[in-house]
Amino acid sequence: MSTFARSSWDFLLDLVFPRQCLGCGEYSTWLCQDCTTLLPLALRELQLPHSPQLDKLWFVADFHEPMVSKLVKTCKYQGVRDLGPILGRLINSEIQKSSLVGDFLTSVILPVPVHSRRMRERGFNQTIEIAKGLEIQLSGQLVYRVNNTLHQADLDLASRLKNIESAFVFHRVENIPKRVILLDDVVTTGATMNEIAKVLKNNGVEEVWGLAFAHSMD
Ligand SMILES: [Zn+2]
Repeated sequence: MSTFARSSWDFLLDLVFPRQCLGCGEYSTWLCQDCTTLLPLALRELQLPHSPQLDKLWFVADFHEPMVSKLVKTCKYQGVRDLGPILGRLINSEIQKSSLVGDFLTSVILPVPVHSRRMRERGFNQTIEIAKGLEIQLSGQLVYRVNNTLHQADLDLASRLKNIESAFVFHRVENIPKRVILLDDVVTTGATMNEIAKVLKNNGVEEVWGLAFAHSMD
């Protein structure tokens, strides 16, 4: 979408769907300062048995917190693009408090690619929008998604692992980064990130971390 079309669209969106804090209803913001303070956020490490290719996996929020799932769902399913960078800034402020901040800042971020079909439906990739709120350098397009795989959330674990196999192909670049951080909005089994990590490592990336705004247990 052109800048003009996008700002016109934002203007129309504001008319029919006015910006209002998802927590308290305050106007002209998606998340006010008070509600931000109430969010239980912390950078935590996650161990997932099905993601052996990820050297570390981090998340900052629990998807089962009503406010957390509301933020993610409003961004993804109601197409509120502006929430992406807001989620990114929330992740960023937790990274800044971490003792590993130096390691994060010297890595490159690779937003998990979404299906082209999903991208068309939504008009944007929410992981790219989230990355805009981080202070970590974006990688070039290191992998792209080939199979128009089924939507992971609709499948059980065995089918998820099968569905995601060979869905990603490496895009050759001149300088292979040493450490790549895969960014997603929600991590569940880690199957998608694990598959991308495998492709990256087969192509010379030494270390792959995962980073998600929220962790969901289901
Ligand atoms: Zn509020």
